[in-house]
Amino acid sequence: MSGLVILGATGSVGRQAVEVADLLGVHIVGLAAGRPSEKLVELAESHPDAAVAVAGGSGEERERFASRLGGRVSFGSEAVAELAATSGALVLNGIVGSAGLASTLAALSAGNRLALANKESLVAGGPLVRAALERGGGELIPVDSEHSALHQLLQGRAPGEVESLVLTASGGPFRGRSLAELEAVTPEQALAHPTWKMGGRISIDSATLVNKGLEVIEAHLLFDIGFDRIEVVVHPQSVVHSLVRLVDGALLAHVGHTDMRVPIAYAITHPERRVLDLPPFPLAGLRLDFESPDLEAFPALDLAYRAGRAGGSMPAVFNAADEVAVAAFLQGRLGFASIPTVIESTMASMSGAFAGDLAEVMAIDAESRSVAASMVAGAC
Ligand code: MG
Repeated sequence: MSGLVILGATGSVGRQAVEVADLLGVHIVGLAAGRPSEKLVELAESHPDAAVAVAGGSGEERERFASRLGGRVSFGSEAVAELAATSGALVLNGIVGSAGLASTLAALSAGNRLALANKESLVAGGPLVRAALERGGGELIPVDSEHSALHQLLQGRAPGEVESLVLTASGGPFRGRSLAELEAVTPEQALAHPTWKMGGRISIDSATLVNKGLEVIEAHLLFDIGFDRIEVVVHPQSVVHSLVRLVDGALLAHVGHTDMRVPIAYAITHPERRVLDLPPFPLAGLRLDFESPDLEAFPALDLAYRAGRAGGSMPAVFNAADEVAVAAFLQGRLGFASIPTVIESTMASMSGAFAGDLAEVMAIDAESRSVAASMVAGAC
């Protein structure tokens, strides 16, 4: 490995990846973010060998940013994808949203190891991602905590030994509430996730179970397993990160801290394990609860299974519609309980046809967004 490239470096996962890399002594050779920010300047200054790429920003913002960091900065989404294709690099993709797909494809096409925290890459562009992985001969290690757990549990297992995968869901802040009780919840309440500290969209997606739905699709693509062999169980403590049922009845669980630095470190060091400065996970007094998800109150999970089974571009439609609905909810333009309604009606008006390349995926993504936006307008 020639070093680590961190995409989405100023985001929640990106910042923790920088921390882990510094702790493990892994050389950071690239940093990318969506916008030129003070935080990115700081990261660039503390990592003087890193090339820096910024996807967005106005002309003036870019000029000011470049004047502080000099010739190692490049701009535009192509610059981010180019950084992802750095020869021999390990690329951690912590970009949020479908904007991360281009970099995922660039990293895998270049034969790099990709530590993937951008779940939309797999959800929106699953077949393309798998093709790029095969063509480029790179490696794909999930960073999402549940999939990291599954990746770890599946080491050394033959496919015929696995009965099913069990994804755990915290249930979010509204676990136990009825559909009617969800009508009046506010963005502030939805952003208060009980166990994980995360960014805005993913917190809302956890509250609606959309996040778990995306993760079901992600698991299907990562581990090449049918949807009828992927289960979801609500586990409020979030200390069991996922489980694998084996054909002989054994049930393997991955248990530990709710700390993203663990899956980040695993993705960077796999197949080795390195020391992280975490205290031993306390077992005494530990209580574990499991319950079935309430599909009536949280219908988005079922919609995700439907999108996944439909295949083609339907998962991309599901994802894009959710992004629009969540943004509208956070701006107070859409009720919480209407998020799945917007997703469902957007799915109903899109064909879900297979997308053959990145341009087609992005076109379907854009079309889904405009359909979803009209559904939002209609729901108000
Ligand atoms: Mg997760």
